[in-house]
Amino acid sequence: MTRTTPPRPVDVEAAFPELTAERRAATRLHPRRGTPTAQDSSVGGVLLWPADEPWPRCTVPHKRSSGYRISDVLREREILERAWRRDPRSGPNSEESEILAGFKRGRHAPHLADTDPIPMLAVAQLYRRDVPGLPHSEQGDLLQVFWCPFEKHGDSRHDLHVQLRWRHARDVVAPLEQQPAPEVVGRQELVPSPCVLHPEGIVEHPYFTVLPSSLQTRIDAWEGPEEDDAPQYIYDLSTAPGWKAGGYLAWRLTPPQSTPCLECSAELSPVLTLDEREWDPGTTSWIPLEDRPYADVMDANTPTWVSPGRGRLVIAACPNAAAHPLRLLTP
Ligand SMILES: [Zn+2]
Ligand SMILES: [Zn+2]
Repeated sequence: MTRTTPPRPVDVEAAFPELTAERRAATRLHPRRGTPTAQDSSVGGVLLWPADEPWPRCTVPHKRSSGYRISDVLREREILERAWRRDPRSGPNSEESEILAGFKRGRHAPHLADTDPIPMLAVAQLYRRDVPGLPHSEQGDLLQVFWCPFEKHGDSRHDLHVQLRWRHARDVVAPLEQQPAPEVVGRQELVPSPCVLHPEGIVEHPYFTVLPSSLQTRIDAWEGPEEDDAPQYIYDLSTAPGWKAGGYLAWRLTPPQSTPCLECSAELSPVLTLDEREWDPGTTSWIPLEDRPYADVMDANTPTWVSPGRGRLVIAACPNAAAHPLRLLTP
């Protein structure tokens, strides 16, 4: 099924023609629970990976023996999803609750030393045919995204460790059949549930706080107070919520900052935005038409079960070279 973002409630470019020059394409990915194959763009699905190529592993020293069993994480979601389908209000019954209570954090992989390589999690794969705006076309037609299942990296020791791989799908003649996965994960919210994607091209405008202050003042006066039900630039007219490729950064938690490439100083651009929610009470205007009948179902807006860092993560990459270092932003 396709997914269709409703037209924006007002034409912001008609009201502020200078925004026309700032429009930027984005692809809303619209992940929804399903069973994607290696031939599909997906979140948390089977990747198209050559059997003779080593799977990405995290070798950064950090504890990896304690956490949640990945099998428990997936089983827990199965139980909850089944319970919510049965009755969206009551949730799991007592028998199910008893099983859920057994899924505890613990030292489930005591044999793992802090430097043992562990398989990274397959987070997503995007085919260029589905997401035409992906950068670095010379690198291939398939982008694959991995992360370590522990947030214990970087100077802060709380950062994610993300890797991107590019490949030409036609080069994979003998695909890997059994995809590696870590035994234990540091946070349940780093395990994506299998989702098929329904990519949709949309247009975005810069986030409010990066606009010139004179324009901010005019938009403020035009849209009126937030308590009115009138459309708001930040929520309804600038950037889309949910998983997306390309587009603009929404600086919701931090003031806007410049993000130069550490190698060549070019401004990095957002390749992929991962979002805990596909919409929330402030961004209901973005709910696709096809999802509106079910938008209030318990987990309708959290199909991936992923919540990185503070709920949202932007993987920003250098437009000039795929090999230049990524930056992970939690704007
Ligand atoms: Zn790691
Ligand atoms: Zn660069």
